[in-house]
Amino acid sequence: MSVWIEPLCINCDMCVPECPNTAIFRAEQHYQVDPDLCTECVGFYDKPACIEVCPLDCIKYLPAKPE
Ligand code: SF4
Ligand code: SF4
Repeated sequence: MSVWIEPLCINCDMCVPECPNTAIFRAEQHYQVDPDLCTECVGFYDKPACIEVCPLDCIKYLPAKPE
């Protein structure tokens, strides 16, 4: 499970230090989340820490991937 960052992101950098899995990185256009590293903060916080701090509310849950 993972979250993803919408193109609305303004690269404010607030989410990056909050991630316990260092899953958020600067990509060409805006920050993105590595879905192989993101655990939706399970085991660390009750809610995804990045979603809690994003001022634009542009971090969203990825729909479950069909197996
Ligand atoms: S949900 Fe948690 S683990 Fe995933 S990118 Fe956000 S802060 Fe990192
Ligand atoms: S907190 Fe939101 S706007 Fe700021 S870098 Fe992260 S995703 Fe982008």
